[in-house]
Amino acid sequence: MPSICDVPGCDHARRRNQRLCGRCFGRLPGELRIAINEAHHQRRWPDWREARRRAATFLNLDRAAPARPTTSPQRAYELQARMLGERSDL
Ligand SMILES: [Zn+2]
Repeated sequence: MPSICDVPGCDHARRRNQRLCGRCFGRLPGELRIAINEAHHQRRWPDWREARRRAATFLNLDRAAPARPTTSPQRAYELQARMLGERSDL
């Protein structure tokens, strides 16, 4: 299974040793490429997500992608039900 580009909304394959596909790599400014790489390498996930979001915004991919919340109402309901269920187990 090919690895997919880190940029949200981009579904291009990337090389295993890179975070971005060739298209995004060529279009993004160096500081964003480095930000994505370093945040991932250093496991700073909030920074990584933020850098990816900025990359998508820069490439206008977030507008092209269908607008959807990161957590669907159904998923939020499941999470809440699970929390309540775990609490009743105490
Ligand atoms: Zn890409």
